[in-house]
Amino acid sequence: MGLSSQEVQPFRSNPETEKKISDLLSKMTLQEKIGQMTQLGTFDESDEELISEGMIGSLLGVRGAESVNALQRIAVEQSRLGIPLLIADDVIHGYRSTFPIPLAEACSWNSPLIEETSAIAAREASTEGIQWILAPMVDITHDPRWGRIAEGAGEDPFLGAEVARARVKGIQRNDWNDRPHMMACPKHFAGYGFAEAGRDYNTVDMSETRIRELVFPPFQAALEAGAGTIMAAFNELNGVPCSGNRFLLRDVLQQEWGFEGVVLSDWESVDELKQHGFAASREEAALIAIESGMHMDMHALVYHEHLINLIEKGTISESLIDDAVARILRIKFHLGLFDQPYVDAKLASSMMLAPDHIQTAREMARQSIVLLKNEDALLPIKPEVRKLAVIGPLADDRDALLGCWGGQGRSADVVTVLEGIRSLAEPGTEILYAKGCDVTEGAEQERKDAAAVARQCEVAIVVLGETAYMSGENNSRVSLELPDSQLTLLKAIHETGVPVVLVLANGRPLSIEWAQQHIPSIVETWHLGIQAGMATADILFGRYNPSGKLPVTFPRSVGQVPIYYNYKNTGRPHMKRYVDEQITPLYPFGYGLSYTQFEYTGLTLSKSAATLEEGLTVQACIRNAGGMDGEEVVQLYIRDEAASVTRPVKELKGFRKIALKAGETQVVEFELTAKQLGFINNDHQFVVEPGSFRVWVGPNSDDGLEGQFEIVNEVVNEAVNE
Ligand code: BGC
Repeated sequence: MGLSSQEVQPFRSNPETEKKISDLLSKMTLQEKIGQMTQLGTFDESDEELISEGMIGSLLGVRGAESVNALQRIAVEQSRLGIPLLIADDVIHGYRSTFPIPLAEACSWNSPLIEETSAIAAREASTEGIQWILAPMVDITHDPRWGRIAEGAGEDPFLGAEVARARVKGIQRNDWNDRPHMMACPKHFAGYGFAEAGRDYNTVDMSETRIRELVFPPFQAALEAGAGTIMAAFNELNGVPCSGNRFLLRDVLQQEWGFEGVVLSDWESVDELKQHGFAASREEAALIAIESGMHMDMHALVYHEHLINLIEKGTISESLIDDAVARILRIKFHLGLFDQPYVDAKLASSMMLAPDHIQTAREMARQSIVLLKNEDALLPIKPEVRKLAVIGPLADDRDALLGCWGGQGRSADVVTVLEGIRSLAEPGTEILYAKGCDVTEGAEQERKDAAAVARQCEVAIVVLGETAYMSGENNSRVSLELPDSQLTLLKAIHETGVPVVLVLANGRPLSIEWAQQHIPSIVETWHLGIQAGMATADILFGRYNPSGKLPVTFPRSVGQVPIYYNYKNTGRPHMKRYVDEQITPLYPFGYGLSYTQFEYTGLTLSKSAATLEEGLTVQACIRNAGGMDGEEVVQLYIRDEAASVTRPVKELKGFRKIALKAGETQVVEFELTAKQLGFINNDHQFVVEPGSFRVWVGPNSDDGLEGQFEIVNEVVNEAVNE
């Protein structure tokens, strides 16, 4: 699976547009230029005057085509130069058709499908006048305490880059309009997912080598895929807040990567340079931000208030402003806003929740679900089962399933798990429902009533997890357990002796060690969006064979955090331990079960010793040895056994999602080239070193067929740079 980088084009301008930009720049006053660099996130009628004076370049969060057109009309018809506004919004996992949260979608390991949900989200948003989606969030994280883990693709830079590329391609896909209609904004640059202690906005301190290896790849992939904007992060990185970080915004992004697009601050993050203790005043914050390469100020109005003084005093040169404005105008020209600033308000109603959007939402939700445990093949539920209990505070909850950043999604559009089960159960099956407790509170009587309901049934499906607001921005947790009320309910239902299927609906990996020990079947469904109930029922009744694989490690206990599959060995790998917990995770990265069994055999390497110029191929045979058709995500990992900078014990370097009918066998082949075998050394150079490598092809990061090969070049890095 995956998209080749040849298919995508970095955002670039052309001479004709550049001519239009310089013509326009030559007519603009300094105030008008600074206006383009200003984005408002909330506004009322009094701000209309600012728009008519050309003092605002972009608005965030305007809702509805008519409102967008009305504001756009002020900019186009009343401002002196008629420069249209750029309308931005946070469209994180769907617009009106809400898809699974991004972490869930990453479990599909299905880049084309992720591209599709992003394209649908963009299409719906676009009919309402949005031209700039402040997504994808591509922050890698190792910390499930961090609530924003829900918004990203998990812990791995390779998978993260695949997903980032797919999302940008989807958002910017040009499939329903005759021109580019949407710009993506990968965020948050950079290191935000490594906030200390998983506390949102917290300090990040990482070596440059590690940042380049772990944090940058999804950003690079997003830019290669054509993203023309990027958002700076709230956090500081190695003592320098990202919104005033010249190394990130100028040296890396613009000089090293040749980025020609726009850097947007995060919400008031230019002003926050003061709170960080990095700028003494708002004026100094403006100076630091503009000098470090920040082109647009989100909602802080710091540029609006202070850039003019800085230029008049001669502290900064107007060329800095011209460069930023040219970049912003480049995006506006690219999107065709000067030719077509308005949207057809009638289009929106036919586009929202279109039948194919709902169908894609169900398909994506099914592929996002991960089967974590299935003892005695309790699942899929047998057609003979006549009485089913559905229990738990999230069984019939619409709001939670929309997830964090629900955008324009409405809870009324959500099919709950109870509704999905009711609509897909065998005719004649009796479904009994009991809530049992609230998400964070519970009473004994309610629990007893739920247990009594369970006792009358052959199987109990218990739906537990988190509300939408227990993950997402500024929703960090110190505990990864199910809240007490829910764990107590689960134990009470378990004690009835009725077999229990635990369905989890949550925004982050949870530590569910008790459930893993006692509950026969566990299904991770996350927050799946509008089709949550249908997709969950598809899995429970075997209408879809689970194929999701975890893009994050599940810890046994919060005390193991950070825990991730691509860790480094110490000098004493045999001695690592906790006195009070196992060292291994509860479920490893890449893990997920199926109702069928996939057998891996016949690992074959095309060579046991290769030069980098040649590369090599790795093959394995995968057989569906069970009785049900299914899909498998075949994963390729490597280890460089000795290198000048220590390497992780395993690194994902490829994957394929394949469909196999019962009894069918397929040979899967991966290529290994210099690009996959190299790493960033401590001089921040990409290098490949000769020597011995191990390779695995398997169903997750902790299992697989193992092989070994040598890279035999004498002068390796010349080969890499060719
Ligand atoms: C978030 C961004 C978001 C912005 C605008 C910030 O608080 O960090 O991800 O795009 O708000 O809503």
